[in-house]
Amino acid sequence: MKSRHDEDGKPSLPAPRIIPRAEHPISRQHISDAALKVLYRLDGAGFEAYLVGGCIRDAMLGKMPKDFDVATSATPEQVRDLFRNSRLIGRRFRIVHVRFGREIIEVTTFRGQPQDEHADHIARQSDAGLLLRDNVWGSIEEDALRRDFTVNALYYSIADFSLHDFADGVHDIETRTLRLIGDPETRYREDPVRMLRAVRFAAKLDFLLDEASETPIYELAPLLLQIPPARLFDEVLKLFMAGHGLMTFRLLSHYDLFGMLFPEAEEAMADVDWAEELIEAALANTDRRMAEGRPVTPAFLLAAFLWPAVVQRKAALEQEGMPGVPATHTAAQQVVSRQLQHVSIPKRFGMPMRDIWDLQERLTRRQGKRAFQTREHPRFRAAYDLLLLREQAGEIPSGLGEWWTAFQQGDEHEQRRLLSKVGSDPASQGKRRKRRRKPRKKTE
Ligand code: ATP
Ligand code: MG
Repeated sequence: MKSRHDEDGKPSLPAPRIIPRAEHPISRQHISDAALKVLYRLDGAGFEAYLVGGCIRDAMLGKMPKDFDVATSATPEQVRDLFRNSRLIGRRFRIVHVRFGREIIEVTTFRGQPQDEHADHIARQSDAGLLLRDNVWGSIEEDALRRDFTVNALYYSIADFSLHDFADGVHDIETRTLRLIGDPETRYREDPVRMLRAVRFAAKLDFLLDEASETPIYELAPLLLQIPPARLFDEVLKLFMAGHGLMTFRLLSHYDLFGMLFPEAEEAMADVDWAEELIEAALANTDRRMAEGRPVTPAFLLAAFLWPAVVQRKAALEQEGMPGVPATHTAAQQVVSRQLQHVSIPKRFGMPMRDIWDLQERLTRRQGKRAFQTREHPRFRAAYDLLLLREQAGEIPSGLGEWWTAFQQGDEHEQRRLLSKVGSDPASQGKRRKRRRKPRKKTE
């Protein structure tokens, strides 16, 4: 973006390039009825109303937008008063959610530049330049400058269906370039999560980061340690559960960002030769499932990310003389508690993650009714998937995975045959249990 300055040395506001309806591809067919309703009602009440952000960017790229962000001159309270089905949310960044059935339209009021206001209670910056709160209202020109990337600062006007381009975003879409608006280092310091967003968009859109936006990341990556773990969890979901997880992982690793989110996994990858392959295989698996429209859960990915660290810590504890079962438990505990200091894991994912780990041991013990019980466990499928990946990555020899594949597919007769093989095949039995096992009870 050209940066012009007025007499006080302050950057002057950009004049948008206004692209009339006939000269851009965005049509109302790209826009959900709910989003249109919000835009029309704001417009009808005399406010400015635009679609902005990912929905316009994606529509320009020929993709169907998945959700809609509205920017308006109305304050959050004014928006709330216009829509009964709305809720004010956020503190750091106050926005209004307008709900239509399952669809939520995010409405944000134009943001101004915090330095220009002497309004410490609505905008706050830490000594390091981190933006703690950002609720100074402004004009659309100011709002455009507050956004992260040029391609995210395209505004679609509901008044005349024109597109307002404040930062050469259309050009950057054409050249598939991700470029921060303003000085990249300052923008990353204001909000280090922008580094993760850069990688996420690069992977998702298959864009290249412009050099000036790319260079500061290597050095500024540790700023992510200042971000609250709960916010990083939301970001982790967007990074890895959007269908481009493997690419995203490789880019994060390239920019030294992955270790800021998952230090345990990063350290295990340095020491354990199968760890990276396991993590990549889990991501490829999740991407494939998403492409096929099958269900995916973050619990599985998190279990895979952290599994090498659990194995490594368990081995260390056993070396100190702790028996296997408590060692597994303690190792899991240690890995999780360190992880939670960086990226939080809500219980609804943390519990199943632990189950998937616990099941790894149970999958080796199949005698008697055990195989049938394990098969019925709600996390069996995810645990079995992890087992296959462990074999694929070379952590453990293959065989057990194949056994479970056959067991799931087989009829009763085949299952009995497989179970009888377990008794006679010591290689496929739980190692530590072998000596202590009671004589086999008769089944059936
Ligand atoms: P998607 O919804 O596909 O993930 P998006 O670009 O819409 O991508 P959102 O998180 O929905 O991303 O944010 C909507 C818009 O808000 C962005 O396009 C951008 O203009 C602005 N924005 C979001 N987060 C930031 C941020 N951390 N800093 C500056 N601007 C941001
Ligand atoms: Mg969005």
